[in-house]
Amino acid sequence: MKTIDLHVHTTASDGTCRPAEIVRLAAEAELAAVAITDHDTAEGYTEAAAAARETGLEVVPGIEISTRFFGAVHILGYYIDPLSPELRPVLDWVVQDRDERNRKMAELMAADGLPVDYEQMHARFGAVVGRPHFAQLLVELGLAESVPDAFDRYVEKGRKYYVGRHFLSIERSIEIIRLAGGVPVLAHPFQYKLDDARLRELIEHCLESGLRGMECRYTGYDEEQVSYLLALAEEYGLLPTGGSDFHGANKPHIRLGRGRGALAVPYEYLAKLKEEAGHGSL
Ligand code: AMP
Ligand code: ZN
Ligand code: FE
Ligand code: FE
Repeated sequence: MKTIDLHVHTTASDGTCRPAEIVRLAAEAELAAVAITDHDTAEGYTEAAAAARETGLEVVPGIEISTRFFGAVHILGYYIDPLSPELRPVLDWVVQDRDERNRKMAELMAADGLPVDYEQMHARFGAVVGRPHFAQLLVELGLAESVPDAFDRYVEKGRKYYVGRHFLSIERSIEIIRLAGGVPVLAHPFQYKLDDARLRELIEHCLESGLRGMECRYTGYDEEQVSYLLALAEEYGLLPTGGSDFHGANKPHIRLGRGRGALAVPYEYLAKLKEEAGHGSL
């Protein structure tokens, strides 16, 4: 079976592999396609697409936008136009809001005597700086053993250096993905820890704004969970998608295309998504 990975982060946001490296890893893992779905930016796509030229690997432009409903909810967008003029001002707002939050986090760390310079972080990590980058610095400073450990100790909500940020609404996130020509998809539905009734409420709310798909295969989801999500997707007329949420060393237990080992996302999911996006089927 041809398999793919439709949920991948690069150095354009909080992954640790460059887009070109993702292409190399995808070839190694014998994947037929990858979607680059960085948080709040589509800037990783160009490098990945260039690196994939003449390799036979299909690269899909994507994005992952953080929103709030009962709690955190993430919306994926596939086949967005990375250069869309609709997207730019909205993403600029998100990055500016992140900047304000990040400066506060850097100040809290500096007040504890840690050598954290936010301008240097920007220079090193690019436009979309997030808590995983702070976590990485804390590891380098010897204050934590790994990024997940640094989250646990310092940057998770309620911890010493945590500062919150603002979020686009679900409606707006779905709307801008559509305006940018993309297909909006509800990411990792079990990560929100909702019961069946609340998950349905979330899905129905998203549907009103034009949701078109749901991530049914995801790192750590077992076959029983996948069957439940596939049935739910079918019931609501949503396209199933799937991916690992690969972040390189920032989520060291996750392998590209394979998750913790058992993940396998069929190419057929992408064929339907592509049709939906109006790119026709190959
Ligand atoms: P931010 O958007 O900057 O607040 O950072 C949130 C991102 O941090 C999420 O999208 C995840 O990719 C990552 N993250 C959240 N919790 C953890 C954790 N415990 N370990 C590693 N990464 C995490
Ligand atoms: Zn991330
Ligand atoms: Fe997510
Ligand atoms: Fe993600």
